[in-house]
Amino acid sequence: MKVLVIEDEVALADAVARGLGAEGFEVTVANDGLEGLELARGAKFDLIVLDIMLPGMNGYRVCRTLREEEIWTPILMLTAKDGEYDEAEALDTGADDFLSKPFSFVVLVARLRALARRRSDANLAPLEFDDLTLEPVSRTVRRGDSDISLSPREFALLEALMRHSGEVVSKTDLLDRVWGEDFEGDPNVVEVYIGYLRRKIDRPFGRSDLETVRGEGYRLGSPLPK
Ligand code: CA
Repeated sequence: MKVLVIEDEVALADAVARGLGAEGFEVTVANDGLEGLELARGAKFDLIVLDIMLPGMNGYRVCRTLREEEIWTPILMLTAKDGEYDEAEALDTGADDFLSKPFSFVVLVARLRALARRRSDANLAPLEFDDLTLEPVSRTVRRGDSDISLSPREFALLEALMRHSGEVVSKTDLLDRVWGEDFEGDPNVVEVYIGYLRRKIDRPFGRSDLETVRGEGYRLGSPLPK
């Protein structure tokens, strides 16, 4: 689960990042509103923790701007208890939840998990492509009646491709989604794993659904009609 923490109090941001990291979240920190907005626009985060008083651009504006741009990443806004800014306003700008400072870390984690659950329901629906089915909840894959056993990495790669079947997904995109944005190894690892996937989802079934689109990326299935 990727979390973007936009908070200018460096000590607090670091403590939150460390704590969430220990809870298994993958955390990116921005100490400035504009930088946070830019990162959030990439829309690769599952959750955003957003402070209100920020240099560059305040949290309300960051939140409103994202929503205006139809970026719906769940946002937990950090509000200060001492007046001036209030929670109604946080929700007004399109935040999904708020938490007043100072907050307990345990509560923060619980709120984030709840937000992720609420928002990800739509992502939990089984994915289908032709006779290939992927169940995000049970993490199972089938081709027709045959169960296919995939490693976690292969599973994540197939899921990324199935969510965009008929579209070319670039190698960079796949690296970001499956290996994480801070992956520093050889990008050809994608090609290697595409090969593993083919050996499991295509070849045994006499299919060749997983295509390499030279110079562009990979595509599951024929191109979508324009
Ligand atoms: Ca602040």
